[in-house]
Amino acid sequence: MHEACEGRDGRVEHVHTSGGTIAADLVLLSAGVRPNVGLAAAAGVQLGATGAIAVDEWQQTNLPRVYAAGDCAEHFHRILQKPAYVPLGTTANKQGRVAGRNAAGGRATFAGIVGTAVLNVFDLGVARTGLSEREARLAGVAYEAVVLESADQAGYMPDATALTVKLVAEKETGRLLGAQAVGRHGADKRVDVLATALYAGLTLAQLEDLDLAYAPPFNSVWDPVQAAATHLRRNAPA
Ligand SMILES: Cc1cc2nc3c(=O)[nH]c(=O)nc-3n(C[C@H](O)[C@H](O)[C@H](O)COP(=O)(O)OP(=O)(O)OC[C@H]3O[C@@H](n4cnc5c(N)ncnc54)[C@H](O)[C@@H]3O)c2cc1C
Repeated sequence: MHEACEGRDGRVEHVHTSGGTIAADLVLLSAGVRPNVGLAAAAGVQLGATGAIAVDEWQQTNLPRVYAAGDCAEHFHRILQKPAYVPLGTTANKQGRVAGRNAAGGRATFAGIVGTAVLNVFDLGVARTGLSEREARLAGVAYEAVVLESADQAGYMPDATALTVKLVAEKETGRLLGAQAVGRHGADKRVDVLATALYAGLTLAQLEDLDLAYAPPFNSVWDPVQAAATHLRRNAPA
């Protein structure tokens, strides 16, 4: 896409692309992200398979006393058990702290990511952690998945809104591999619970056992992530 055109009353009406002009009511620009590693590569810093700077758990590069962190560096993915490129501010802060400590003579390590992110789409919160179905497939893992719509509060509360949770789990063991959630309220913290479960390597059965907070204005007695785990366990042994 080259240019979005502003139409009448400040509203977009069409976009010019290399393939021609397309009428549009709404334009979403997804530019993607690439690590800016030209300076590092020119200095002899080794890049990884992702194209970002290869680092060890101490954030050290292949060059002595040269550390890298954040958007220019790779991020060890705990579920994939290999470096990935998921450039986010949360990770940049953690890696930066590790790199800074070690550059100053300390011995800190970066524990890795599980791939957690959240964003707003109009009035919806959209969150993810771990592997999507596609990522599990690409990783060659046999998995089962479920999508379950429940509510952010007890269903009988007047302000309850829909909350949809998707879980992806390893078929053979029931170990959680990834999750996504969408809803007007509560998607972010449900995915944070699931990110914690991923960090700890929990199975669906262990997820059901978690002692999560409940009172009608906040939840159902079975949290939506636990309800989804129960549904998935009907198909996948855990
Ligand atoms: C629009 C947008 C929204 C985002 N929202 C989120 C979010 O909601 N949650 C989240 O977790 N992450 C978010 N991110 C990602 C997050 O901002 C980045 O992952 C994070 O800032 C990376 O930190 P960093 O220190 O590696 O790089 P940066 O923050 O980019 O800092 C790099 C610094 O280096 C400077 N620099 C570059 N080249 C040179 C040079 N040659 N010499 C000297 N200085 C140089 C730059 O000017 C810059 O100040 C968002 C990013 C964007 C662009």
